[in-house]
Amino acid sequence: MNELLTKLGQDLIQGNLNDSELIKQTSEQPVLKILPHAQVVKIGGQSIIDRGRNAVYPILEEITENLDSHKIIIGTGAGTRARHAYSVGADLGMPTGVLSVLGTFVSMQNARMIHFLMAKHGIPFIEPIQFPQLPLYLAERNAVVFFGMPPYIFWQRNPDHGRIPPHRTDTGSYLISEVFGTKSMIYIKDENGLYTDDPKKNKNAKFIPKATVSELEEMDLNDVVVEREVLEMMKSAESRRSIQIINGLVPGNITKALNGEHVGTIITAD
Ligand code: ADP
Ligand code: MG
Repeated sequence: MNELLTKLGQDLIQGNLNDSELIKQTSEQPVLKILPHAQVVKIGGQSIIDRGRNAVYPILEEITENLDSHKIIIGTGAGTRARHAYSVGADLGMPTGVLSVLGTFVSMQNARMIHFLMAKHGIPFIEPIQFPQLPLYLAERNAVVFFGMPPYIFWQRNPDHGRIPPHRTDTGSYLISEVFGTKSMIYIKDENGLYTDDPKKNKNAKFIPKATVSELEEMDLNDVVVEREVLEMMKSAESRRSIQIINGLVPGNITKALNGEHVGTIITAD
């Protein structure tokens, strides 16, 4: 065999890619943290952006105030318009991959609006194809805006039940924090964090300041504050093994979270 190859190179070329012992060797080196100084902040679609000016303006102001001391990759949710599009699409018989296209464009609408609101600070909007420029933009301008939907479009996998794309904007934002090895993944929503049940529907829901993914599995909650796929993905995360959910309607929370303070709920993989 070729002596220029490493031992791993030889084993992979000759070996069986279903051999778990062999595959384990591919993670022997620590995973590279590409942007360890950056933080991903997702602005909720339904929870924040759909509320309009009263919710969005103060949040963008607080983010802007933090640009001198933090590098922020801003993702956007889709929200109510996506849910409407999903309902029409589902009624017309559209498959999940097509519903995923529709949702992508709604999260893009939101990213565009957030971008125009921040344009005067020199903050660019980037599409997936522009991610190679992300390091430059962060170095130069300290923030970028991207749409939170993972760009799977037609290639989105079907959910176990129904047709709504299972990987949406919480997941897409999470995956950016994971792959770039960022310092944090912060979800800005309209509740203080995770509760034992949806606090909008159940007045007796109790606040959960921190939990592990396996504790959450044991609790078997009716509904949770982030897409369940995020919790699933955290189990095999190499870099981003915690997420934080904060209430963006409370002034100061974003700053605290960016500074590494425990506001809201922190969910960890272990
Ligand atoms: P986004 O617009 O950011 O995607 P969502 O509306 O999808 O946000 O999710 C946030 C909402 O989830 C909250 O506003 C809350 O009403 C609801 N929710 C459901 N279950 C829970 C829970 N267990 N704890 C907190 N919030 C919950
Ligand atoms: Mg959501």
